[in-house]
Amino acid sequence: MKVTRIAYSTRLNRSKYAALHEQARRLGQVRSEVWQRYGSISGVGSGLKDRSVRDRWLADDTHARFGVLANAWKETLRDAMTDIAANLEAAKVEVRRAAIRRGSDPAERMQMLNSLKADRWAGDPFLARQMRKHWRRGRNRTHDQIVVRADQHNTVVDRRGQLWLAVPGLERRRMVRIPLSTTVAPTGTLRLILRRGRVEVHYQIDASQMRSSSQRPCGDRTIGVDKGYTEALTDSEGARHGRRLGELLSGESDWLKERNRRRAKLRSIANTAALRGNHAKAHRIRSHNLGTVKRDRQAIRHRAQVRTEIFKAVHRVVDKAGVVVAEDLTKRFAGRKTLGKNVNRRLAGWTKGVTAEALANVSERRGSALVHVNAAYTSQACHRCGRLGRRSGDRLHCTSCGVVWQADVNAAINILQRAGDPDIALHTPHDKVRQTLQERTDRHRTRLPVQDSSPATVERRANRPNGMMSNQFGSSEVSCRTPGAG
Ligand SMILES: [Zn+2]
Repeated sequence: MKVTRIAYSTRLNRSKYAALHEQARRLGQVRSEVWQRYGSISGVGSGLKDRSVRDRWLADDTHARFGVLANAWKETLRDAMTDIAANLEAAKVEVRRAAIRRGSDPAERMQMLNSLKADRWAGDPFLARQMRKHWRRGRNRTHDQIVVRADQHNTVVDRRGQLWLAVPGLERRRMVRIPLSTTVAPTGTLRLILRRGRVEVHYQIDASQMRSSSQRPCGDRTIGVDKGYTEALTDSEGARHGRRLGELLSGESDWLKERNRRRAKLRSIANTAALRGNHAKAHRIRSHNLGTVKRDRQAIRHRAQVRTEIFKAVHRVVDKAGVVVAEDLTKRFAGRKTLGKNVNRRLAGWTKGVTAEALANVSERRGSALVHVNAAYTSQACHRCGRLGRRSGDRLHCTSCGVVWQADVNAAINILQRAGDPDIALHTPHDKVRQTLQERTDRHRTRLPVQDSSPATVERRANRPNGMMSNQFGSSEVSCRTPGAG
């Protein structure tokens, strides 16, 4: 697995920045052209490769319009084609779901999924219709990036120990030298992103080469984890990790709301002043009170803190786990766009992505296995009897067992148990899961009188994750009705 590293420029002079910015702007036009011409079904969707596009552009002199060096536009073209392909793959995920939901016979479904995978969906009316629906025509939004191929850049360290990265400019053999704030030289293909007078150098390194992989091996237990909001993760042994997350998120959310309110007020004062002809005042407010430099810096700092908290939490889990069982957090929700301005939910959605990244990343680096399971009803079902309980705050009350569980620990245990569940697979639909759970508890109820003495029950009880009944649940278990007593 690859991990992205970012190096930053330090004290870069303005003319160099301006030159790079101009180059990025022109390359943005290259990207726009690629999206315009090949960003639809007739382009990448029909299997067009970047090399043939390149040859076409060279043949009809398209490339000459942009005023950039050959390597620069070629790399940018390749990058934009990759973006379009990624866009296409994202649409395919939706179409794959639609094909599964359609639920005709398995052979037909399998054939559909295969033609989708091999880009042969144009021949199937259902798939073609779905692709048109889900693959909306995109456009280029990137105007601040320069992709530099591995053999096009070099680094030198000067006498004072300053690291300089040299990348091609707009003229041949005239490199732009960028002072970096790190001593580790970026390697491989670089992506320069120009933001607010600073250059970010993004590059990828192999996770297995990172120091931590040899230092900290993973544990040997199998542990289920539930993603929470006050804590980053709760595991099936009852431990909570990343306890500062809730405080970080709610603090940020409150602060953002307050600051946005104040900014709106200042903006209206500035607008009123401008309307009345007091442009000096309006300008003063806009430039001194409504700037974005400090706001963006604070946002970056906050994001870094949250990431650290989540990564630390995942490391704690991997300290004891050789197998981590978790919900697939990369799954996207259909109603994502409707989240809109709600700060809380936006932050929650973002942390979900970071948690998914951290689980995959840390597992890979430290050699533990990450198992994704279907998480439907794991937060509502009682892990002991399988019935749906009543949730109130962080408690889950199972009326059947007469027990109050810690909701997130209960969820983590359910997630752990899903890993070996023969009836509930990763993509089993929601309703089917509910039905399965229902059938199990019904069966359970009819056999209730003999249940206690059956060897299967004894075994199941013995297999229950340890420590559940004692320490962390001791206080929350209000009364425990013995099975069969009712
Ligand atoms: Zn129960």
